[in-house]
Amino acid sequence: MENCIFCKIAKGEIPSNFVYEDDKICAFKDINPVAPVHVLIIPKTHIASAMELNDDNSGIVAHIFACAGKIAKIMGVDESGFRIVNNCGKDGGQTVGHLHFHLIGGKELLWP
Ligand code: AMP
Ligand code: ZN
Repeated sequence: MENCIFCKIAKGEIPSNFVYEDDKICAFKDINPVAPVHVLIIPKTHIASAMELNDDNSGIVAHIFACAGKIAKIMGVDESGFRIVNNCGKDGGQTVGHLHFHLIGGKELLWP
């Protein structure tokens, strides 16, 4: 996707703070963190939102969750705990149209 900021980050065209990368996904620090640890995990291929997931492409979500513990460990929140959030669409608060999962931690998080 030509004008997708997260596609550009995934390709290294825009500088970001990568904390994890493999052939399918990358994780980088959120530019506007809401907690001491706030990382975004994204597929390298463009998927606009959770609404675009289907049986053909949703394996990437399993891979993201398969790596989440590893990323949490890298960020030092594997023992203290963390939250993984996906915002979808306008009312969900999605502001970037490239599927991403927030991994948030480093303090006790309020719920809801
Ligand atoms: P969402 O509101 O769920 O779509 O989340 C988008 C997130 O992307 C927000 O938390 C932003 O702070 C973050 N963000 C936007 N641009 C960048 C960027 N260039 N580098 C890192 N994080 C970004
Ligand atoms: Zn994209």
